[in-house]
Amino acid sequence: MTQIDYQFTEEFARKMDAEDPINSFRDRFLFPEVNGGKAIYFCGNSLGLQPKSVKSYLEKELNNWANLGVDGHFHGEDAWYHARQKSKPALAQIMGAHTHEVVAMNNLSSNLHFLMVSFYRPTSERFKIIVDGGAFPSDMYMLETQVKFHGLNPDEAIVELIPRDGEHILRTEDIISEIIKHGDSLAMVNMAGLQYYTGQLFDIREITAAAHSVGAYAGFDLAHAAGNAVLKLHDWEVDFATWCSYKYMNSGPGNISGVFVHERFADRPDLPRFAGWWGHDEGQRFLMEKGFVPMHGADGWQVSNTNILALAAHQASLDIFMEAGMSNLRAKSEKLTGYLAYLIEQISGKSGILEIITPKKPDERGCQLSLHIHRGGKAVFDDWYSHGVVGDWRNPNVIRLAPTPLYNSFLDVFRFAQILEQSLKKFA
Ligand SMILES: *Cc1c(COP(=O)(O)O)cnc(C)c1O
Repeated sequence: MTQIDYQFTEEFARKMDAEDPINSFRDRFLFPEVNGGKAIYFCGNSLGLQPKSVKSYLEKELNNWANLGVDGHFHGEDAWYHARQKSKPALAQIMGAHTHEVVAMNNLSSNLHFLMVSFYRPTSERFKIIVDGGAFPSDMYMLETQVKFHGLNPDEAIVELIPRDGEHILRTEDIISEIIKHGDSLAMVNMAGLQYYTGQLFDIREITAAAHSVGAYAGFDLAHAAGNAVLKLHDWEVDFATWCSYKYMNSGPGNISGVFVHERFADRPDLPRFAGWWGHDEGQRFLMEKGFVPMHGADGWQVSNTNILALAAHQASLDIFMEAGMSNLRAKSEKLTGYLAYLIEQISGKSGILEIITPKKPDERGCQLSLHIHRGGKAVFDDWYSHGVVGDWRNPNVIRLAPTPLYNSFLDVFRFAQILEQSLKKFA
């Protein structure tokens, strides 16, 4: 990316918005109000905003249900029986996958458990799991209980990677050397694609290659990477992955997740799994016979019949992603987050009050910046909120801000910077 000559002026921010080819997508979203004004919403890393189109997508399915009843399962082009197919092209594009490698289903934590049934098969020699230290709590509970489920001790089986002394992020070389060190005892690497706390985007390709070189599987939790970072799961040979749709994918609180399973495993009925009827051969499903025959590809990991209302809200958002295009989104995202980083440096700069712990290089981060605040703490954060800035506070002193390229503007970032400047004067 060419270096941009960022400036702390409203004129500059307005010029950037005028030149932004996807600026108008902002109008497709509903913004919450804070203290009577439209929020500066930097919390898409936690819950993405509602696309205005969601209502009509839901209404359509409610009408189909009202008008067709059970016949909705097989009626016309919206037949619920095949509903998941519609979401596949967008999911494949966002994940860098083939359509048969992805499917929308369940929720994230449930999916990771289901995937581990297939991909975490510890033996007395090969049983360890490598995870990024300080992973999201749900992921830690999942790994801990999976390990115990196999009669093993989490303290021995789970290897948590932590940054070097005095550093905030993991170095790829250290991740790789740890994988090599555990070698034959390593069953699986199961890391975040993008770390929720630090905002670090891991080198998924390198990590996967290292895991494979010692005979281990590589799986990723893409909760914070999906719809945020450019992903090429197929080409990177990732074994499996899962994500949620309610963060950067704007599909609504707790909405449907999805899984990726590499095509190497597309026709592997021998892989153990906890099955349900929706993963069973579609042509034979309604024969209602016993004897599970998994479908080809990721579909063979489905368990229950598709949640149609959830999928409808998801589809509204996926259609927006398809229209905007991941490459446009990513190009804008680098500039927008670059602008935020620049303004924070300008304002806090020499005072050292704010320290950005997220990597500086655009290809090592998504849109989120994580800050350590060394003076003023929560009072500064609360002051931002009183001026309409919705960010995210983590004890003891971390602030996460995620300007998202679909609905945030350069003017949002500029306005935030003005608020930041004032609140540091008052509270830090
Ligand atoms: C958001 C998030 C989750 C949430 O899991 P759910 O099953 O959707 O509740 C799990 N893991 C990570 C890394 C997350 O960021």
